[in-house]
Amino acid sequence: MAVKQQIDHLIVNGEIFTGERASPYIKDGAIAVDGGRILAIGDTRALSERYLSPDFIDAGGAIVHPGMIDTHIHATSIALHSLPVSIDEISQSKVSYADVKVQTDDESTDALVAAAAVALLRRGYTCFMEAGTVFETDAFASALQRIGMRGMVSAPFGWDDVSDFESHAPGMITKRLLERAPADRATVIRRLERELTRNADKDPLVTGYVCLYGEGSATDALTRDAIDLALEAGVIFNQHQGFIHMWRELETRKYGKSGVARLHQLGALHERTTLSHMNSMSDLDAELVVEHRPGITWCPNNALHRAVHPADPCRMPKLIEQSVCVSLGIDTTMYHALGTAGMASLLLSATSGQRLDDAEPFYMQTANAARNIGFSDELGTLSVGKRADIVVRASEDITHTAMEKVGGLLALSSSQIPVDVVIIDGKLVMKGGRLTRVDQAEVLHHALAQRRRVLERAAT
Ligand SMILES: [Zn+2]
Repeated sequence: MAVKQQIDHLIVNGEIFTGERASPYIKDGAIAVDGGRILAIGDTRALSERYLSPDFIDAGGAIVHPGMIDTHIHATSIALHSLPVSIDEISQSKVSYADVKVQTDDESTDALVAAAAVALLRRGYTCFMEAGTVFETDAFASALQRIGMRGMVSAPFGWDDVSDFESHAPGMITKRLLERAPADRATVIRRLERELTRNADKDPLVTGYVCLYGEGSATDALTRDAIDLALEAGVIFNQHQGFIHMWRELETRKYGKSGVARLHQLGALHERTTLSHMNSMSDLDAELVVEHRPGITWCPNNALHRAVHPADPCRMPKLIEQSVCVSLGIDTTMYHALGTAGMASLLLSATSGQRLDDAEPFYMQTANAARNIGFSDELGTLSVGKRADIVVRASEDITHTAMEKVGGLLALSSSQIPVDVVIIDGKLVMKGGRLTRVDQAEVLHHALAQRRRVLERAAT
């Protein structure tokens, strides 16, 4: 008998959904992991004959899938999800969300991001793109590294012209926020460059990318500098775009063309750009998107909550049909339960008369998401040679089990199935639904204390 090769992890007896559209499913499947990457994937019996591991994981017939990726989260907001209620409890005075955002410091961001990471891991997410609103980016990175989770971070509030917010949404940009995030091109570029230095590390878990706040809050000059920086560094460029009808109209009025047309003119409409929201777009905007293929991060919960406008029917099913790469984000969890974007995307898509397939949210949160954060070669599918970011679910009742068809994955992509094991970059970070590297109860305890501190400071 041939000698078995010793490897880091061997997962067996899984109902594997690979995230690869061409070969989506392996019955009684196994995955061999070594050196941080997927070494082999296939039949349990075949792989058990070839490999041996001190960390042998028997999935027991449960679903195994690539770690999901949320491509638009304001990280600290996950831990502030009950914000409006908490503020009222602390103070009767009016405190805006913007004023809460600026009350973070290293200690609070570390605690809140660690708690956010736990919440995401428990729902099958192994990576997320922070939407450019964390001030203490080093604390953000170290919290994720301590837990073993993957993330992307950029400079906070990249803007240099907030005149539309001042006139139409003053609550978004209080004096305190502008003190910490000045509307100044040189400051923004310097901060962006600093975040990109993270990428010089060998295989960093937390990488930097280029993010502007968007929605008409950057001049042509800042936008052009940011795009150049992204192209030079080989990372994606991202900003909020077309969240609501009003923002699109204001930007069009200010610059004489829509935000999408402006990005096109500035050379940013291509596959290395990912635009967040895009709920509101003109016919011309949609044509430009189909032609030039920027990625779209769709946040359907927030679209349903705030942005559905008679003039803006849901265009996503049509765009997906036309091969535009759409991924999902929860945006803020103030009103939207983490992990429910998949469900919301199907419901919102139905309003267009062209309901998406039940499997689509799974792809939007795996393969499409990896492409939209600029990591399609490394993440998003269970494929030989890719980074080993793998989730093994639990199967505690009948609704947690697979039906051998990708079309039945709504429960999975909407985080309804408990998570048992999580491997990220080939390392075990969760087992039995509990973190392996840090004390989960302590993470929660610290986060609750820090949340209280942040809210108290905002109220004074
Ligand atoms: Zn956002």
